[in-house]
Amino acid sequence: MTDVRLYMFDTGILKCKYHDIYLNQGGDSDLDIPVPFFVITHPKGNVVIDGGTPVECATDAMGHWGKVAEFFTPVMTADQGCVAQIEAAGIAPESVRYVVLSHLHLDHVGAVGRFPNATHVVQRTEYEYAFAPDWFAVLAYVRKDFDNPALTWLLLEDSWGDFYDLYGDGSIILIRSPGHTCGHQSILVRTSAGQHVLLAVDAADTMDHWEERALPGALHSAIDAVRSVRKLRAVAAKTDALVVAGHDGPQWAALRKAPEFY
Ligand SMILES: [Zn+2]
Repeated sequence: MTDVRLYMFDTGILKCKYHDIYLNQGGDSDLDIPVPFFVITHPKGNVVIDGGTPVECATDAMGHWGKVAEFFTPVMTADQGCVAQIEAAGIAPESVRYVVLSHLHLDHVGAVGRFPNATHVVQRTEYEYAFAPDWFAVLAYVRKDFDNPALTWLLLEDSWGDFYDLYGDGSIILIRSPGHTCGHQSILVRTSAGQHVLLAVDAADTMDHWEERALPGALHSAIDAVRSVRKLRAVAAKTDALVVAGHDGPQWAALRKAPEFY
């Protein structure tokens, strides 16, 4: 593949509560959210973003995640695991050079350790926090999914700045966007067709967060979260980017899915 293309996938849904996504809203009502992941093809090596829910959850979510699966309940099949879907799209697992993690929450680490030639790219702040989360964040990190000495990591340092150009050609820019977690990052993609797509991931769970109509239900810092959205909005305005929210059901339904691409 010599083109830079962006493919969109999901590993099914999570069943949760409205207030998990919209702070102090919706009472006890239920909400189903999609769990997206992405592949960017690139002549220097393909890139997987996040990987969604680990495939083990297709058969035994309680066994893999523990009691958090009672509150965030995955609905997925084994063929919705990220490796199976990437192979089905005709992309070889061996061709994946980087797995970029927006953050290390349990529904974003489905690609970790699944691609034999991959370096895993995450903010150091996120990586270190995931090993020692505060009490309210403990259930969101499932350590066995990323605590593996055999993995290769590229930890992005705060001192390197807010923007990291993965291949040095402007096609994939990682943007620090803390708030949802302390070390969250979003991804700006420029395809060979010249289109910019900004994968906000959980810096904006939904377009209601992006449009500043609601605060997200899961927060490390509300101030950081809203300021990260302001920063990303500035980036999106300059690049005329299509903005993709992290778990927005109606928006997700309307986006182009693999095998189609951007
Ligand atoms: Zn998250």
